[in-house]
Amino acid sequence: TPILELAGLRKSFGRMEIIRGVDLAVVQGERHAIIGPNGAGKSTLFHLVSGHLRPSAGAIRLRGESIEGLPPQSINRRGLSRSFQVTNIFPRLSVWENVRCATLWSLGHRYSFWRDVERLDDVTRRTEEILTEIDLIDRRRTPAGVLTYGEQRALEIGLTIAGHADVLLLDEPTAGMSHAETERVVALIRKVSEKRTLLMIEHDMQVVFDLADRISVLVYGEIIACDTPARIKANAAVQQAYLGTEAA
Ligand code: ADP
Ligand code: MG
Ligand code: MG
Repeated sequence: TPILELAGLRKSFGRMEIIRGVDLAVVQGERHAIIGPNGAGKSTLFHLVSGHLRPSAGAIRLRGESIEGLPPQSINRRGLSRSFQVTNIFPRLSVWENVRCATLWSLGHRYSFWRDVERLDDVTRRTEEILTEIDLIDRRRTPAGVLTYGEQRALEIGLTIAGHADVLLLDEPTAGMSHAETERVVALIRKVSEKRTLLMIEHDMQVVFDLADRISVLVYGEIIACDTPARIKANAAVQQAYLGTEAA
Protein backbone atom coordinates (compact mmCIF):
# COMPACT_ATOMS: atom_id res chain seq x y z
CA THR A 1 0.00 0.00 0.00
CA PRO A 2 1.20 3.54 -0.72
CA ILE A 3 2.47 5.68 2.15
CA LEU A 4 0.74 8.74 0.68
CA GLU A 5 -2.32 8.51 -1.50
CA LEU A 6 -4.41 11.19 -3.21
CA ALA A 7 -7.75 10.14 -4.64
CA GLY A 8 -10.05 12.31 -6.74
CA LEU A 9 -8.52 15.43 -5.25
CA ARG A 10 -10.04 18.76 -6.33
CA LYS A 11 -9.53 22.38 -5.39
CA SER A 12 -11.39 25.42 -6.66
CA PHE A 13 -10.72 29.09 -5.98
CA GLY A 14 -14.06 30.75 -6.73
CA ARG A 15 -15.09 29.41 -10.12
CA MET A 16 -11.60 28.40 -11.12
CA GLU A 17 -10.89 24.72 -10.59
CA ILE A 18 -7.13 24.55 -10.15
CA ILE A 19 -6.79 20.89 -9.08
CA ARG A 20 -9.09 18.78 -11.22
CA GLY A 21 -9.30 15.25 -9.95
CA VAL A 22 -5.80 14.17 -9.00
CA ASP A 23 -5.00 10.54 -8.15
CA LEU A 24 -1.48 9.84 -6.95
CA ALA A 25 0.08 6.99 -5.00
CA VAL A 26 3.51 7.58 -3.50
CA VAL A 27 5.26 4.36 -2.50
CA GLN A 28 7.20 4.16 0.76
CA GLY A 29 10.87 5.01 0.25
CA GLU A 30 10.60 6.25 -3.32
CA ARG A 31 11.78 9.57 -4.70
CA HIS A 32 8.86 10.96 -6.66
CA ALA A 33 9.04 14.19 -8.68
CA ILE A 34 6.15 16.35 -9.80
CA ILE A 35 6.87 18.35 -12.91
CA GLY A 36 4.67 20.58 -15.02
CA PRO A 37 4.39 24.08 -16.45
CA ASN A 38 4.11 27.18 -14.31
CA GLY A 39 0.61 27.62 -12.90
CA ALA A 40 -0.21 23.92 -13.32
CA GLY A 41 -1.21 23.71 -9.64
CA LYS A 42 1.88 21.96 -8.25
CA SER A 43 2.29 24.19 -5.18
CA THR A 44 -1.48 24.16 -4.62
CA LEU A 45 -1.33 20.37 -4.55
CA PHE A 46 1.33 20.55 -1.81
CA HIS A 47 -0.76 23.08 0.16
CA LEU A 48 -3.65 20.57 0.10
CA VAL A 49 -1.49 17.67 1.25
CA SER A 50 0.23 19.63 4.04
CA GLY A 51 -3.05 21.05 5.37
CA HIS A 52 -2.39 24.66 4.38
CA LEU A 53 -5.43 24.52 2.09
CA ARG A 54 -8.59 22.47 2.32
CA PRO A 55 -9.56 20.35 -0.68
CA SER A 56 -12.93 21.01 -2.36
CA ALA A 57 -13.32 17.26 -2.83
CA GLY A 58 -11.38 14.03 -2.66
CA ALA A 59 -9.29 12.10 -0.17
CA ILE A 60 -5.71 12.31 1.11
CA ARG A 61 -4.40 9.31 3.02
CA LEU A 62 -1.15 9.05 4.94
CA ARG A 63 -0.36 5.43 5.88
CA GLY A 64 -3.95 4.63 5.06
CA GLU A 65 -5.43 7.26 7.38
CA SER A 66 -7.43 10.22 6.08
CA ILE A 67 -5.68 13.52 6.72
CA GLU A 68 -7.64 15.88 4.47
CA GLY A 69 -8.87 18.89 6.43
CA LEU A 70 -6.44 18.39 9.34
CA PRO A 71 -4.34 21.43 10.30
CA PRO A 72 -0.67 21.56 9.19
CA GLN A 73 0.77 20.83 12.63
CA SER A 74 -1.30 17.65 13.05
CA ILE A 75 -0.21 16.44 9.63
CA ASN A 76 3.39 17.26 10.47
CA ARG A 77 3.19 15.23 13.68
CA ARG A 78 1.84 12.29 11.73
CA GLY A 79 5.13 12.33 9.87
CA LEU A 80 4.67 14.51 6.78
CA SER A 81 6.72 17.67 6.45
CA ARG A 82 7.16 20.19 3.65
CA SER A 83 9.25 23.10 2.47
CA PHE A 84 7.93 26.18 0.73
CA GLN A 85 8.78 27.54 -2.68
CA VAL A 86 9.50 30.97 -1.19
CA THR A 87 12.30 31.10 1.36
CA ASN A 88 10.91 30.45 4.79
CA ILE A 89 13.74 31.04 7.26
CA PHE A 90 14.02 33.70 9.99
CA PRO A 91 16.89 35.82 8.62
CA ARG A 92 17.83 37.50 11.90
CA LEU A 93 17.82 34.33 13.98
CA SER A 94 20.91 32.14 13.98
CA VAL A 95 21.04 28.88 12.06
CA TRP A 96 20.77 27.08 15.41
CA GLU A 97 17.69 29.10 16.46
CA ASN A 98 15.98 28.48 13.12
CA VAL A 99 16.34 24.72 13.47
CA ARG A 100 15.38 24.85 17.13
CA CYS A 101 12.13 26.72 16.33
CA ALA A 102 11.22 24.15 13.68
CA THR A 103 12.02 21.29 16.05
CA LEU A 104 9.91 22.79 18.85
CA TRP A 105 7.04 23.29 16.43
CA SER A 106 7.30 19.82 15.04
CA LEU A 107 7.65 18.07 18.38
CA GLY A 108 4.68 20.06 19.67
CA HIS A 109 6.30 21.76 22.61
CA ARG A 110 4.25 24.52 24.13
CA TYR A 111 7.06 26.48 25.73
CA SER A 112 5.59 25.43 29.06
CA PHE A 113 8.63 25.37 31.31
CA TRP A 114 7.01 23.37 34.08
CA ARG A 115 5.59 20.69 31.84
CA ASP A 116 8.26 20.39 29.22
CA VAL A 117 11.56 21.29 30.78
CA GLU A 118 12.82 17.72 30.77
CA ARG A 119 11.98 17.37 27.08
CA LEU A 120 14.13 20.35 26.10
CA ASP A 121 17.13 18.02 26.06
CA ASP A 122 15.42 16.12 23.24
CA VAL A 123 15.03 19.36 21.32
CA THR A 124 18.68 20.24 21.77
CA ARG A 125 19.79 16.78 20.69
CA ARG A 126 17.48 16.82 17.67
CA THR A 127 18.68 20.31 16.69
CA GLU A 128 22.30 19.14 16.75
CA GLU A 129 21.45 16.03 14.74
CA ILE A 130 19.77 18.11 12.06
CA LEU A 131 22.58 20.66 11.86
CA THR A 132 25.01 17.78 11.41
CA GLU A 133 22.84 16.09 8.80
CA ILE A 134 22.59 19.28 6.70
CA ASP A 135 26.28 20.06 7.29
CA LEU A 136 25.69 23.49 8.86
CA ILE A 137 26.88 22.70 12.38
CA ASP A 138 29.91 24.99 11.93
CA ARG A 139 27.60 27.82 10.88
CA ARG A 140 25.21 27.42 13.81
CA ARG A 141 25.83 30.89 15.27
CA THR A 142 25.53 32.70 11.93
CA PRO A 143 22.33 34.69 11.32
CA ALA A 144 20.44 32.75 8.67
CA GLY A 145 20.13 35.84 6.48
CA VAL A 146 23.92 35.99 6.14
CA LEU A 147 24.23 32.46 4.71
CA THR A 148 24.81 32.00 1.00
CA TYR A 149 21.67 31.25 -0.98
CA GLY A 150 22.63 27.59 -1.31
CA GLU A 151 23.19 27.34 2.44
CA GLN A 152 19.80 28.95 3.06
CA ARG A 153 18.15 26.31 0.91
CA ALA A 154 20.05 23.62 2.83
CA LEU A 155 18.78 25.19 6.06
CA GLU A 156 15.23 25.02 4.74
CA ILE A 157 15.67 21.32 4.15
CA GLY A 158 16.85 21.15 7.76
CA LEU A 159 13.67 22.89 8.92
CA THR A 160 11.68 20.36 6.91
CA ILE A 161 13.34 17.33 8.54
CA ALA A 162 13.06 18.79 12.05
CA GLY A 163 10.84 16.61 14.19
CA HIS A 164 10.62 13.07 12.91
CA ALA A 165 8.86 13.36 9.56
CA ASP A 166 9.58 10.49 7.18
CA VAL A 167 7.61 11.86 4.24
CA LEU A 168 9.16 15.03 2.79
CA LEU A 169 7.55 17.39 0.32
CA LEU A 170 10.05 19.82 -1.23
CA ASP A 171 8.75 22.65 -3.41
CA GLU A 172 11.38 23.64 -6.01
CA PRO A 173 14.35 23.10 -3.68
CA THR A 174 16.94 24.15 -6.30
CA ALA A 175 15.14 27.12 -7.84
CA GLY A 176 17.35 30.13 -8.50
CA MET A 177 20.62 28.42 -7.55
CA SER A 178 23.98 28.34 -9.26
CA HIS A 179 25.33 25.08 -10.64
CA ALA A 180 27.61 24.49 -7.63
CA GLU A 181 24.85 25.27 -5.16
CA THR A 182 22.47 22.96 -7.03
CA GLU A 183 24.97 20.11 -6.80
CA ARG A 184 25.32 20.61 -3.08
CA VAL A 185 21.57 20.69 -2.49
CA VAL A 186 20.98 17.67 -4.74
CA ALA A 187 23.53 15.71 -2.67
CA LEU A 188 21.73 16.82 0.49
CA ILE A 189 18.32 15.84 -0.88
CA ARG A 190 19.71 12.45 -1.87
CA LYS A 191 21.06 11.99 1.65
CA VAL A 192 17.95 13.09 3.57
CA SER A 193 15.72 10.96 1.35
CA GLU A 194 17.76 7.78 1.84
CA LYS A 195 15.61 6.80 4.81
CA ARG A 196 12.57 8.87 3.96
CA THR A 197 9.97 9.13 1.22
CA LEU A 198 10.40 12.12 -1.07
CA LEU A 199 7.84 14.03 -3.12
CA MET A 200 9.50 16.93 -4.88
CA ILE A 201 8.36 19.68 -7.23
CA GLU A 202 11.27 20.51 -9.51
CA HIS A 203 11.79 22.42 -12.75
CA ASP A 204 15.42 21.53 -13.38
CA MET A 205 15.12 18.36 -15.48
CA GLN A 206 18.72 17.39 -14.77
CA VAL A 207 17.90 17.35 -11.06
CA VAL A 208 14.70 15.41 -11.69
CA PHE A 209 16.43 12.75 -13.77
CA ASP A 210 19.28 12.57 -11.23
CA LEU A 211 17.02 12.01 -8.24
CA ALA A 212 13.61 10.67 -9.18
CA ASP A 213 12.53 7.03 -9.25
CA ARG A 214 9.20 8.11 -10.71
CA ILE A 215 7.78 11.29 -12.19
CA SER A 216 4.23 12.62 -12.30
CA VAL A 217 3.41 15.32 -14.82
CA LEU A 218 0.79 17.86 -13.74
CA VAL A 219 -0.76 20.03 -16.45
CA TYR A 220 -3.67 22.39 -15.73
CA GLY A 221 -4.61 20.56 -12.57
CA GLU A 222 -4.51 17.05 -14.01
CA ILE A 223 -1.86 14.37 -13.92
CA ILE A 224 -1.27 13.45 -17.56
CA ALA A 225 1.46 10.86 -16.92
CA CYS A 226 3.10 9.00 -14.05
CA ASP A 227 6.06 6.82 -14.96
CA THR A 228 9.79 6.17 -14.75
CA PRO A 229 12.10 8.99 -15.88
CA ALA A 230 13.08 7.17 -19.07
CA ARG A 231 9.48 6.61 -20.10
CA ILE A 232 8.45 10.18 -19.18
CA LYS A 233 11.26 11.50 -21.37
CA ALA A 234 9.96 9.49 -24.32
CA ASN A 235 6.28 10.37 -23.72
CA ALA A 236 4.89 12.39 -26.64
CA ALA A 237 2.03 13.93 -24.63
CA VAL A 238 4.52 15.18 -22.03
CA GLN A 239 6.79 16.67 -24.69
CA GLN A 240 3.78 18.35 -26.24
CA ALA A 241 2.65 19.87 -22.91
CA TYR A 242 6.11 21.32 -22.36
CA LEU A 243 6.64 22.53 -25.91
CA GLY A 244 3.26 24.24 -25.61
CA THR A 245 4.37 26.33 -22.62
CA GLU A 246 7.84 27.03 -23.99
CA ALA A 247 6.28 28.53 -27.10
CA ALA A 248 3.72 30.62 -25.16
P1 ADP B 1 2.53 26.00 -9.81
O1 ADP B 1 3.09 25.75 -8.46
O2 ADP B 1 2.31 24.76 -10.60
O3 ADP B 1 3.31 27.01 -10.59
P2 ADP B 1 0.30 27.11 -8.30
O4 ADP B 1 -0.24 25.95 -7.59
O5 ADP B 1 1.12 28.08 -7.54
O6 ADP B 1 1.07 26.62 -9.62
O7 ADP B 1 -0.92 27.91 -8.94
C1 ADP B 1 -1.84 27.29 -9.82
C2 ADP B 1 -2.91 28.28 -10.21
O8 ADP B 1 -3.75 28.53 -9.08
C3 ADP B 1 -2.38 29.62 -10.66
O9 ADP B 1 -3.13 30.04 -11.77
C4 ADP B 1 -2.61 30.50 -9.47
O10 ADP B 1 -2.81 31.83 -9.86
C5 ADP B 1 -3.87 29.91 -8.87
N1 ADP B 1 -3.96 30.13 -7.42
C6 ADP B 1 -3.10 29.66 -6.50
N2 ADP B 1 -3.48 30.02 -5.26
C7 ADP B 1 -4.62 30.75 -5.41
C8 ADP B 1 -5.51 31.41 -4.49
N3 ADP B 1 -5.31 31.38 -3.18
N4 ADP B 1 -6.59 32.05 -5.02
C9 ADP B 1 -6.81 32.05 -6.35
N5 ADP B 1 -6.01 31.46 -7.25
C10 ADP B 1 -4.93 30.81 -6.80
MG1 MG C 1 5.37 27.98 -10.24
MG1 MG D 1 4.75 26.43 -7.46
